[in-house]
Amino acid sequence: MENTPICSRFAPSPTGYMHIGNLRTALYAYLLSRSTGGKFIVRIEDTDRERLVEGAVDVILGTLKVTGLDYDEGPVVGGPNGPYTQSERKPIYREYAEKLVSLGHAYYCFCTPERLAELHEENENGGYDRHCRNLPADVVKANLEAGIPYVIRQKIPLEGTTSYTDEVFGEISMENKEMQDQILLKADGYPTYNFAHVVDDYLMGVTHVVRGSEYLTSTPKYVLLYDAFGWERPHYCHLPLLMGKDADGKISKLSKRHGAVSFQDLVKNGYLPEAIVNYIALLGWCPKNTNQEIFSLEELKGLFGIEGINKSPAVFDYEKLRWFNSEYIKALPDDRYNALAVPALKKVCGDNVDVYKLAELLHSRLACFGDIPETVRFINERLPMEDPASLYANKKNKTTAESCKAVLNDVLPMLELTEAWDNDSLFELLKGYAEGIGIKAGAVMWAVRIAVARQAVTPGGATELMTVLGKNETVQRIKLAISEL
Ligand code: GLU
Repeated sequence: MENTPICSRFAPSPTGYMHIGNLRTALYAYLLSRSTGGKFIVRIEDTDRERLVEGAVDVILGTLKVTGLDYDEGPVVGGPNGPYTQSERKPIYREYAEKLVSLGHAYYCFCTPERLAELHEENENGGYDRHCRNLPADVVKANLEAGIPYVIRQKIPLEGTTSYTDEVFGEISMENKEMQDQILLKADGYPTYNFAHVVDDYLMGVTHVVRGSEYLTSTPKYVLLYDAFGWERPHYCHLPLLMGKDADGKISKLSKRHGAVSFQDLVKNGYLPEAIVNYIALLGWCPKNTNQEIFSLEELKGLFGIEGINKSPAVFDYEKLRWFNSEYIKALPDDRYNALAVPALKKVCGDNVDVYKLAELLHSRLACFGDIPETVRFINERLPMEDPASLYANKKNKTTAESCKAVLNDVLPMLELTEAWDNDSLFELLKGYAEGIGIKAGAVMWAVRIAVARQAVTPGGATELMTVLGKNETVQRIKLAISEL
């Protein structure tokens, strides 16, 4: 199958932001087509007019662009099977719905909303009672001529079983009597998703339907439509659920309480699009014969295949995403990295410090751009030191609060005197002092680093921090530290 070009599609409903589950669906559909030199189509499914959200199409298309998921046919780029927005295809669905009626696999239903509401009240889960399924042809004709509002419903066989083989989940079977005579065309002339996507997938030549597993059990109804039209069924490839980890360690469907769940929010929080794409590629799919985890989109195109998709739910792990992000930040070229880091640093530090220097220090240490304010707060603020004794004490360097105080007293005048305020000179100065009195350089660096940073974990060593802070602030902080010790 690898050699047959696959035509897949991404068919989002513009109902809001781009959930990462949707992005994963788009990515897998994209990779599947690209891995076979096939075609990738984007189609906007906007027939549920009540759920439309303004601007959502732009968000979807913008996300595809930023993540590099280029499509061969779809909105904006067009193509031979357009239009690619369902609301612009209304006449097509009517034509096919009527065709299905004439084939005996669908029927007009004139039941009023009041009647349906009553039915619902009597039996909430009973569904439609097929009241209009066998209306005589002359009644149907008269009703249509009288302009009575109607919907068109699918005539599901009353007996038997409908099965299909999902590429991921295997054989899925449903007894026909379990299925409802679902609405295909609504009273307002818009098709339902259930109908429109089948017609479109057929007309657009889609060979593989890739989508979330919430459609796994409604697909028997869709394959019945293909059969009724006499069309070849597509391959179905439903994707495992995306879960999040709850506070109690259990897992549940990924939602906002687990963290940011939209692509836009993740980017806003400081994650790189390529890191997000890399991570979600592996959320439910696993490449063969390799432990490699970092993959460019190009590499993924070469490796992807349905056989690597896992049917068990995938748990979104924010820590793992941070790891991917830190790897991608490390690999960013300086200009792109600075374009992201420097404005964020300026926001926290103003113009008081050398933000380019600070950016350079952070380049190999930052897991996420959203961490910047917290990571560099100590640069701009002299943080309160909660427990100086334990901060200054370090086993490896054999330091204590007392030994540090002595070091700080010694180095203060040296630092006040020196004019050479660059990393190498400061390092030599402190190292020379350590050698002179016969202690480890590490012990001196520890004392100075804690005194100037006023916290344990810092993005850089003592002398690097001193160059960022500048001479004046460094000297002031060392004086403050001495007075506190
Ligand atoms: N419009 C549907 C959705 O956003 C698409 C499902 C499908 O891919 O068939 O859930």
